[in-house]
Amino acid sequence: MKTNYQLLTDNCIASLPPDGKPTLLLHSCCGPCSSYVLEYLTRHFDVTILYYNPNIQPEAEYEKRLFYQREVLKHLPARIMECAYDGAAFEEIAAGYENAPEGGERCTRCFLLRLEETARRAAQGGFDFFCTTLTVAPHKEAERINRIGTELGRRWGVRWLPSDFKKRDGYLRSIRLAQEYGLYRQDWCGCEYSHGKNEAGSI
Ligand code: SF4
Repeated sequence: MKTNYQLLTDNCIASLPPDGKPTLLLHSCCGPCSSYVLEYLTRHFDVTILYYNPNIQPEAEYEKRLFYQREVLKHLPARIMECAYDGAAFEEIAAGYENAPEGGERCTRCFLLRLEETARRAAQGGFDFFCTTLTVAPHKEAERINRIGTELGRRWGVRWLPSDFKKRDGYLRSIRLAQEYGLYRQDWCGCEYSHGKNEAGSI
C-alpha cells in the first residue's frame, strides 16, 4: 500500500505543541517551488531556507535561481542560509551516471547529496526538523525522497518532516504564486543532463 505522505505531514503538525513554533531547516531547490511550501509551512514552523543545489548548471543559472529565491522571501516570513556554488560536489556523485534517465539513479544520488547537507546543517544548527521542497514537483517521487530523508534523519539525529507537497494542488499553487511574485520559472530540473528535456513538471 502506498504511504500517504500528506497525511503524515498533517499528523506531525497536529502533534506540535500549541505554544511557539518549532524550527525547521527547509532545503529549497528554487524560488517558485518554495513559494507554496513556505506559504504552508510558515504557519506552523519557524523556517530557515537552505539553498544548497550543486546540481544546477551552469553557475550563472545557480545565481539566477538564487536571486529569485531571495525574491520569494520578500513575500513570506523565512530566513535564508545561502551556500557557495559547489558544482564539483555534483560532478563527483553524477560521474558514471551521466546517461541515466531523468528520475533514475543519478537523481537518487542528487537527492541524497542535497538532503545529507541539509540534515548535517540541521543537526549542527540545532534545528527541530528538516525537510525539502522537492516533493512539490509532479514528477519527483515522494516515496524516494521521504525514504532518503527518513534515513538521514536517523543518522543525523534530526526529525525529518515527511511531505508530498504536490498534493492539495500544491504545484498549481506554486505556479500561481510564482506569477504573482513575478518569479523566473525554469523549464528544466537543474543539471546539464536534464537541460533541453523540458519534461512537463520535471522541475
Ligand atoms: S535531473 Fe534533476 S534531480 Fe536528476 S540529477 Fe539532474 S538536477 Fe538532480
